[in-house]
Amino acid sequence: MIYIHIPFCKSRCIYCDFFSSTLSTSRDAFINALRNEIHNRADEIRHARANTIYLGGGTPSQLTYVQVKEIFDTLLGVVSLENGAEVTMECNPDDVTPEFMSSLADIPVNRISMGVQSMNDNFLRLLNRRHTSLQALKAVEILRSAGYDNLSIDLMYGLPGQTLELWKSDVDKIISLDVPHLSAYSLQWEEGTPLFKMLEKGEVQETDEDTSVSMYRYLIRRAMECGYEHYEISNFAKPGMRAKHNSGYWRDEAYVGLGPGAHSYDGAYKRSCNPPDLQRYLNNEGIIAQEIEILSEEELYEEQVLKGLRTIDGLNLALMSEEYQEHAINMAAPHIERGTMIRSGNILRLTEEGFILSNDIMSDMML
Ligand code: SF4
Repeated sequence: MIYIHIPFCKSRCIYCDFFSSTLSTSRDAFINALRNEIHNRADEIRHARANTIYLGGGTPSQLTYVQVKEIFDTLLGVVSLENGAEVTMECNPDDVTPEFMSSLADIPVNRISMGVQSMNDNFLRLLNRRHTSLQALKAVEILRSAGYDNLSIDLMYGLPGQTLELWKSDVDKIISLDVPHLSAYSLQWEEGTPLFKMLEKGEVQETDEDTSVSMYRYLIRRAMECGYEHYEISNFAKPGMRAKHNSGYWRDEAYVGLGPGAHSYDGAYKRSCNPPDLQRYLNNEGIIAQEIEILSEEELYEEQVLKGLRTIDGLNLALMSEEYQEHAINMAAPHIERGTMIRSGNILRLTEEGFILSNDIMSDMML
């Protein structure tokens, strides 16, 4: 699994604390630095395998065709793409033009993930998203005409001032598009973002917990009625269309992250991160000292719980030492009794009701 972080956005959304820059001048220098990093970490990349590649950001669709091609030419010069590999590119709806999409025809991207966030133009404006709801609809059409049927759409709920009725309308509009994959996240109020400052000044309010839960429940009900499998807390897929890349993260597989701010994991004990500093990345031409973290046994257990319980595949007790198994079983018992968790053999998993309470349950399962 290979992740490539493209640290550029055309403008910044007011809720976002992801690492990205609006500088347009350093993009060629970034591609050179990234190619350097790919060569430098070739062994690690081969170990992580190209069964999935994910171009995320930032906004990868802000790159030109030539820049995207340079990335793939370099990457596929050091590792071979596996049969059936999922290759995802995140796109912003207003970057999706017929010209851009047809220019990508010789690049092995076969899945597009699009941050739509809302189908209500008032919220899109409030969040400083660049697109309109109409552009989002057009983008889906353009993608399908260009042969990209494997689409995922991201939505956000719990936006300031969003009522349950407005959210229902968003969900219904998105579901009617019949895309194979949906992700929906409740708005996170990240300290330091312009939106958080508006909250501090009392200009916007947080959605109350009950409304937020009702929004989540509505999404689950409608998605399941329309043939989506609710396979992870925030993710829904038509049969056979689960995201392979993200599923690999939740299955605890090894991955390599390239680009500033990208994380890597060896699939065992070691996590590392490229510092989120574009200038340093450019100055050192992609070769920067990674911050390394060796996970303790306790941290590994907690990671297993956090990843395993996110999905309907659940937490595999057989992968834990006896001591941790016992702890997990004891902590799960009251939740099983309440019907928020199920145990089948060695697998513990959350029920739909458990997904709604997942934060509390996961924190109960910790050491
Ligand atoms: S486009 Fe995505 S990464 Fe860029 S500012 Fe908006 S939410 Fe953040």
